[in-house]
Amino acid sequence: MNETIQLLLVLQNYDMRLIELERNLNDIPQSIADLEVAIAQWNRKITQEKEQIQNIKLEIQKLEKEISSSEETIATCKYKLAFTKNPKESENLTKRIEEEQNKISQWEELSLHKMFELDDKKLSTSEQIAQDEILKIQNEREHQQQRTLDLEKNKSEIKNKIAVMRKVLQENHTHWLHYYDKTKKAIHKMPCVVELNPGNFCGGCHLKRSDYNDQTVDSHFPFIICESCARMIITLPEGLCPLDSCKEA
Ligand SMILES: [Zn+2]
Repeated sequence: MNETIQLLLVLQNYDMRLIELERNLNDIPQSIADLEVAIAQWNRKITQEKEQIQNIKLEIQKLEKEISSSEETIATCKYKLAFTKNPKESENLTKRIEEEQNKISQWEELSLHKMFELDDKKLSTSEQIAQDEILKIQNEREHQQQRTLDLEKNKSEIKNKIAVMRKVLQENHTHWLHYYDKTKKAIHKMPCVVELNPGNFCGGCHLKRSDYNDQTVDSHFPFIICESCARMIITLPEGLCPLDSCKEA
């Protein structure tokens, strides 16, 4: 008797492990999706920073072009100034040279400012941090993918074990298995086979049983069905209940 209850408890343990495995497996796709989102965010951050640096470089290049264009204008004006005899033209050329020189000094100042900005950006860029984070997240994703494979393998092993246990119970205790399956469907949370706690309390829902008064144990069905939660309560006397030894297994 004790041994066959033990078989049912072993089946129950396998069933609970299967439920746990399936729950873990169900959570993995979401956690991988979260990791993908995190990678995309870090990549976006890297792209944004590169774009900002690139923009400053382009601004500096533009300023350098303006400066060299002004320098050419000044050179042309100076050449003309050396040969002109017209005072009005001479005055205009001098004025133009001054204007261009003013522009150059403004652009040079701006360009210097941009160069400092560029240096600051390069120093403060979080690309390396982002790359490290991405690497960490990618490792975690690989770990989750490997975990999926491991869990799937465990799941198929447990399923085989469950099939073996069910076959044994089917052959000898169809009645028990029938009740076990019925209870499993009825309850929200495993286990379905529980012990009777001291004080006549159900080991599943922890409610006090009302109609239990030392009833004789039916050797063909050594359980009572809890009227509150429908779990199968083992009615073996204390000390003989295999639940504790089974919990440790
Ligand atoms: Zn109960």
